[in-house]
Amino acid sequence: MNILVLNCGSSSVKFQLIDTDAEKIKTDTDRRLAHGVIERIGGPALVNFSVQNADGSQRTTREAVPLRDHSAAIEKIVQWIISPETNISGISTYSDIAAVGHRVVHGGEELTRSLIITDEVIKQIEDCIDLAPLHNPQNLKGIYAIRKVFGGTAQQVAVFDTAFHHTLPDYAYLYAIPYQFYRRHKIRRYGFHGISHRYVQYRYRMLKNIPRDTVNVISIHLGNGASVCAIKGGRSQDTSMGMTPLEGLIMGTRSGDIDPAVLEHLAHKEGFSLSDVEAVLNKQSGLLGISGLTNDMRELVAEAVENDDRRAKLAIEMFAYRAKKYIGSYLASLNGASAIIFTGGIGENSDYVRGRILDGLDWLGITPDEALNKATTRGKEGKISAESSRLEVYVIPTNEELLIARDTLRCLIGLELPR
Ligand code: AMP
Repeated sequence: MNILVLNCGSSSVKFQLIDTDAEKIKTDTDRRLAHGVIERIGGPALVNFSVQNADGSQRTTREAVPLRDHSAAIEKIVQWIISPETNISGISTYSDIAAVGHRVVHGGEELTRSLIITDEVIKQIEDCIDLAPLHNPQNLKGIYAIRKVFGGTAQQVAVFDTAFHHTLPDYAYLYAIPYQFYRRHKIRRYGFHGISHRYVQYRYRMLKNIPRDTVNVISIHLGNGASVCAIKGGRSQDTSMGMTPLEGLIMGTRSGDIDPAVLEHLAHKEGFSLSDVEAVLNKQSGLLGISGLTNDMRELVAEAVENDDRRAKLAIEMFAYRAKKYIGSYLASLNGASAIIFTGGIGENSDYVRGRILDGLDWLGITPDEALNKATTRGKEGKISAESSRLEVYVIPTNEELLIARDTLRCLIGLELPR
């Protein structure tokens, strides 16, 4: 079955078309047929689509076209997928796309598993806008657009970024503020990157050929957004992002953990409103704020290594130190783990940053293998710890789209959803 996977942002839509079925999931033989992204929706949009050739190579189409909204962008994607020129085997009409799976950022406390999208589910996702005002409205735009483009006939499934963390115990998800604020406003830790952390624990289980209940690992997703997840028995037990993605690790432009009293102090000193302060913490902090240069880790590493830039080095050091502290605290929370797993753009590609994080963890039984660390970049999967290491360290490239496609299929044909 051909599943279209959509990830809708404020002015962008990313997609993948994935061929999967129950047998392919079992044998891990489902495959990506096409993928792409449209950016700058609302003006002269940039289109970048690729189709997979049988020999593994790709044919890529790039163009700039005016696309006024998400519906126009999604219409463009679907028209391209079914077009004879694109020539994807077995796909020539709308009905050859069996269903659409959406990444939805916030499912709140109620939406804790992937679901077929009904009017009731749309209402529930709308109810979570309060918790994710920047993300859920964009995801909903994609859902409405598919209804428009397919004339209401398409089956749609929502896969939530928060859902994997619904197993957090109350002592991990509550903030130590008066309990009535949790009851009244649902203020608590929800956690994000759940699709990625769930994929990584699934993949680790496959690599090690072990049952889910024995997966005790720490998953570290380091991208422009970054989070750590403590996984016990295949379930999320704690995670570093909180009610919003601002908490936890240092990120591209987000501060991560900070003394909340800084907010009032900063507002007072700079004459900022609360929302000004929040914008500083979300958009001008993190790697960008410390380095004063960029939020892009690749550029920072180049500045640090080639130009010995002091603040680039400081930003990387702070980034690595924060991650190291979370590894230590989650090892305590889990009472030990069998592996640490890196994923995300930085986690998958930067042996330098991984090296900085893993340096000096030998007391915890973590010994990286320098040569393996160096060799495992650009989409490679594998172990980067030494044979003598008590804890294994892995790099596992994330694949959120595959998991969304599989959950979409499972919802459609009534297969049990892995938790
Ligand atoms: P993501 O949000 O997962 O796409 O990750 C984006 C981040 O990964 C950016 O900060 C990139 O600079 C970073 N990244 C990608 N490749 C490398 C690399 N080879 N070295 C360092 N950082 C990288």
